[in-house]
Amino acid sequence: MTRVVVVGAAGRMGRSMLRLLGEFPDLTLTAAVASGRSAALGQDAGSQAGAAVLGVPVTADLAAALVDADVVIDFSTAAAAAEHVRACAQARVPLLLGTTGLPEGLEGVLGEAAKSTAVLVAANTSLGINVLLELVRQAAAALPDYDLEIVEVHHRHKVDAPSGTALALGRAAAEGRQVSLAEQAAYARQGHTGPRPAGQIGFAVVRGGDVVGEHDVLLLAGGERLRLGHVATDRAVFARGALTTARWLAQQRPGRYAMRDVFLAKTKS
Ligand code: NAD
Repeated sequence: MTRVVVVGAAGRMGRSMLRLLGEFPDLTLTAAVASGRSAALGQDAGSQAGAAVLGVPVTADLAAALVDADVVIDFSTAAAAAEHVRACAQARVPLLLGTTGLPEGLEGVLGEAAKSTAVLVAANTSLGINVLLELVRQAAAALPDYDLEIVEVHHRHKVDAPSGTALALGRAAAEGRQVSLAEQAAYARQGHTGPRPAGQIGFAVVRGGDVVGEHDVLLLAGGERLRLGHVATDRAVFARGALTTARWLAQQRPGRYAMRDVFLAKTKS
């Protein structure tokens, strides 16, 4: 049995994972952590998620939760990410960090944490997106002169832009072309921008309604366009992917891991 702690338990993703736990009989929830201001504090984790009673009250005490844990799944807030990473490292509990909009300075904290526990940061835990990342890497390499643009659409509550997934797609494209995303990215265009520079990787962001997540990668040339895209219609795909990944991560030695490692391990087994 793998003992799981869900951080961000009262949020959209947290509740979605708690509703899906029944599909994973080898995972047992030992703690559900919310922010100290959450209205769900003290409530049963399952009930507040609209699922069956799980017998685990929602708490704000991550340190206490880590005492009895094999893996932590964190979908909460970027502002608390460093604190959560350090706590997991100190307790030597593997961490799947699904939160996006992470500060750049977090890389050092993650590297340090990976010396004492397994750490996996995933901007997107759906199987489809992780296959798309590979396809984009290949397409960008095969079509080096095509203009590459990434368009993403998300619900009106999303706080970071471009989405973590759009950035991951940009990184995959840059890897495929063996260029630096930081040097090639265009995150905004307004006014007299002049013609499009060759090699640029452009991002466009749409926000509104209840859109779970849509990503399109366009490779445009004179006479043709290649469009690679993904539409998430239910955040359960992220939640299911996160639970599957956490089950795998709980068994890993200290180090940095990526979603690619999870899929490669699956193909090998
Ligand atoms: P949400 O706002 O619904 O939920 C976040 C929850 O975290 C809230 O309930 C908030 O109160 C809580 N929280 C804030 N500070 C906390 C703290 N210190 N400790 C514990 N909980 C805390 O957001 P969401 O839609 O559930 O998304 C959460 C994060 O996951 C976002 O960064 C989002 O972009 C990301 N996300 C990732 C994927 C993926 O596949 N990796 C998929 C969807 C969303």
